[in-house]
Amino acid sequence: MATSTPDSAFRFPYMADRFAPARRKTLKVRVGNRYIGGDTPILVQSMTTTNTKDVDATVFQTLELAKAGCELVRITAPTQKDAECLKEIAAKVRAAGCDVPLSADIHFQPRAAMEAVKWVEKVRVNPGNFVDSKSPTPREYDEAGFISGQQKVYDAFAPLVRIAKDRGVCLRIGTNHGSLSDRMMWKYGDTIEGMVESALEYLRVCEAENFDQIVFSMKSSNPRVVVQAYRLLAARLDKEHKPYPFHVGVTEAGDGEDGRLKSSVGIGALLLDGIGDTIRVSLTEDPEHEIPVAKALVRLCDLRGMERVPALPEALDHYAFHRREVPVAHLGALAVGGREKIAVGTADPGSETLPKGERRIEWIGTRENHPPREQVPTMWEPHAVEFAIPPRHPVTALPSGLLLGGLSDLPAHLEVMVEDPAHLDRLPADVFKLPGLFWSMAPGGNNPVARYRHLAAWLAAKGRPDPIVLRGQSDGSAEGNMLLAARFGSLLVDGIGDLVRVDGALGPRACMHLGYDILQAAGVRRTKPEYVACPSCGRTLFDLQTTTQKIRARTAHLKNISIAIMGCIVNGPGEMADADFGYVGGAPSKVNLYVGRDCVKKNIPEEEAPEALVALIKEHGRWNEPADTQVSSGA
Ligand code: SF4
Repeated sequence: MATSTPDSAFRFPYMADRFAPARRKTLKVRVGNRYIGGDTPILVQSMTTTNTKDVDATVFQTLELAKAGCELVRITAPTQKDAECLKEIAAKVRAAGCDVPLSADIHFQPRAAMEAVKWVEKVRVNPGNFVDSKSPTPREYDEAGFISGQQKVYDAFAPLVRIAKDRGVCLRIGTNHGSLSDRMMWKYGDTIEGMVESALEYLRVCEAENFDQIVFSMKSSNPRVVVQAYRLLAARLDKEHKPYPFHVGVTEAGDGEDGRLKSSVGIGALLLDGIGDTIRVSLTEDPEHEIPVAKALVRLCDLRGMERVPALPEALDHYAFHRREVPVAHLGALAVGGREKIAVGTADPGSETLPKGERRIEWIGTRENHPPREQVPTMWEPHAVEFAIPPRHPVTALPSGLLLGGLSDLPAHLEVMVEDPAHLDRLPADVFKLPGLFWSMAPGGNNPVARYRHLAAWLAAKGRPDPIVLRGQSDGSAEGNMLLAARFGSLLVDGIGDLVRVDGALGPRACMHLGYDILQAAGVRRTKPEYVACPSCGRTLFDLQTTTQKIRARTAHLKNISIAIMGCIVNGPGEMADADFGYVGGAPSKVNLYVGRDCVKKNIPEEEAPEALVALIKEHGRWNEPADTQVSSGA
């Protein structure tokens, strides 16, 4: 996705105060016996993965989801026949004593939407494909063609709006990055601006029909795009006093720890800014697994009681990714800042030793327990660096509250760790004479995002392009990791952070890996393959979970490659973003393979497809053998 900076019309703030976040004020929208938005708690939802025509299986999974705490269940309705099945599904779910609201998921089929709206409490439409289409060779438009497309949207969507209004059904206008129509692509390109305009075109139809029971979403598999697109939509709607609630999610987040971290970066960063009224965590796992993750995110990102940090003017573009401009600093072998990759560090290695040949670890010594300089290279070669204040400079607490090392016999670089944002303006002027300053916020307070925003804004106001170290702790639990990902993710999306430092009970090696994995989840540094895997739904044409595992097992050793594993050809190719290779269900038990956005092999039998993908990667020179199978060249 192009990260073009939207024009000045978009320069309305997306939240009132980035230093003291509060939940975005929205309309309250009714969905069956629940509400989305307003002052109601953030609603947790998920989606069935069964074939919708298999009514009993879909009813069973809906009931299981409700039992797991799911507060709204979405069911795909790819055809009118599927939509007709919603009647029986809804009746059986209610007969089982379950009142969880049901939502129908519609792509391409206005007729299916017109059927589904009779049986469920919410209907989702995708503006990218409800009326318009997307072709492999994008259609060209002119302005007149673009405008006549708006009339077509009205003609197809208004009847659905009218019946939704009559029946008290809520509509979700759900834009997905990757499925923008040719018409929107012609006008706006592959931008968040296009995503927002695509949704607003549908809003205009609702408004013409005096219908306001609307929820918006702006999903992508790239958390950075997710955050920027929702921010931009919030800014646009709030500027026009149209505070509709948002359904927030990261699509195709994948599975396991990576899926959880990616969701935490995208969803968590938004929740920490008060954006999000209902959330779905999309994992390539059984849908019930999504519920505890979603509930944990809502709890971890609760803004009530959040520290308020004094606001400062910011010179950041909140709608596009621009890393803070910082000159390169050399910490031993490690270069930080400039265009260098964001570095990772941790505390004392203790007794843990790294496996021989470990390549993902960079070690950064700390004031607490820094190995003597001459020992570092032998312990950690080739990744060893020295950093900050060696122990020969005892840590002292200055009256200002700033922690600094002794100010004589200085190392080349010094980290100024700020305990409280209020201390910055009391900093002794002599500090600025010190060479090679790095800055960080000391752990403390419950709003590190606002503290770091304050630090970055303060440095900008002082004209100090110094590197910033993001410090964070994890207690080693899955939730601790998710909270750290949400906090770091929010800052990294804003381009704040040149080095992340993870400490905690995990142990140094796991802390380092967590740091790298969060950088990857935030899309700012890749140290292992990136898998974009859809969560599966009633359209899925192969077993996504086992296939994803098979592909991961064959390709996990590759570096700097992204592979999309998508269950169907209907939405898969559009939504696999910018993956290098795509593995997409083309027909039942048949797979199509893609290089970028081009389909290069079709109808490969499912059992042969993982190896065909490996062959394709080899053909394109992106393969290397795993380290343990490499033949020694002999010396
Ligand atoms: S890409 Fe996956 S989740 Fe999306 S519609 Fe296709 S099968 Fe369903």
